[in-house]
Amino acid sequence: MALRDSYGRSISDLRVSLTDRCNFRCFYCLPNGEPAHACREDVLTFEEIEYLAAIFVSLGITKLRLTGGEPLIRKDVPLLVRKLSGLKPQLEDIALTTNGFDLERHAAALREAGLDRLTVSLDSLDRQRFREITGVDALDRVLNSITTAQDVGFSPIKVNAVIVRGRNDDEIATLASFAREQGVTVRFIEYMPLDSGHGWSKDLVVSGREIRNAIEEAFPLDLIDETRGSSTSWRLRFADGSRGEIGIIAPVTEMFCGQCSRIRLTADGQLRTCLFSTVEHDLRSLLRSGAHSSEIVQFIEEAVEKKEPRHYINDPDFVQPARTMSLIGG
Ligand code: SAM
Ligand code: SF4
Repeated sequence: MALRDSYGRSISDLRVSLTDRCNFRCFYCLPNGEPAHACREDVLTFEEIEYLAAIFVSLGITKLRLTGGEPLIRKDVPLLVRKLSGLKPQLEDIALTTNGFDLERHAAALREAGLDRLTVSLDSLDRQRFREITGVDALDRVLNSITTAQDVGFSPIKVNAVIVRGRNDDEIATLASFAREQGVTVRFIEYMPLDSGHGWSKDLVVSGREIRNAIEEAFPLDLIDETRGSSTSWRLRFADGSRGEIGIIAPVTEMFCGQCSRIRLTADGQLRTCLFSTVEHDLRSLLRSGAHSSEIVQFIEEAVEKKEPRHYINDPDFVQPARTMSLIGG
């Protein structure tokens, strides 16, 4: 069984936000503190997430990414991962994106529970700058988390760095060097208009092309695949054969919507068919009304049918979605 949208794109990748709360205040995500949270009762329980995940997997979802907000703020995430692991092998891959603050103490349990892949966000290797970007003095903590995660067997770890002009674009080569030294994949991400402060402007976007040029001045790169497929990222290796890898994610300047295979479930159970959707599909209410699983299947199929053809960031009448990245689940 495969979920398909009206443009023939096959949907195989579900991102599940475990919470809309966060312990960081990244300026490109939550600069003015957190917007209103969902009420506690509206947040899906782990049992509800497991139940819905099983339905999504029966519909052809093969990759599941747990995210947030900061997913490790929720208690017992390893328990959830263990339950979700029961959906393998139809579910091929379970991943988690975290800011790394609390990863050190959970890394081993997550690995044991069956988590396949880990992405840690890290936008600066300078302690003071890290604090200015995230609002928290936690660079050492995040670096320790990365090492611990490697020690318990996560490999290769992905490290997400959002590059913003005038804030950390002078660290591009340093972050590439970190990929080599640590043997991790550093993925450079263009700044997207999903911040709660509405501070995004095109001038602040450092394009994927610019990022690649800045890395190549220090470390020449070779493309690993000529096409991205449904992946968001261009994958590059170091031409000198060094370990480590580079990813470049350029949703603003090199739109990849034509191959998009992703849908999202927010912490309060709303199905979103695009990061930039301005409408949501209320799966939580349907689920809690006691609907039969066949009704849930039909609801998901109908929502996917309506998946947007593309984002409109570059159009003059672009409207930023009401929910920010932390509320949607990046
Ligand atoms: N809190 C976790 C973290 O930061 O890794 C998971 C959620 S966070 C919303 C997921 C990813 O979205 C992070 O790698 C973050 O850097 C990225 N992100 C957040 N706001 C963004 C923006 N305005 N543009 C591009 N990426 C953004
Ligand atoms: Fe929190 Fe992640 Fe957003 Fe930073 S990017 S504020 S860590 S949700």
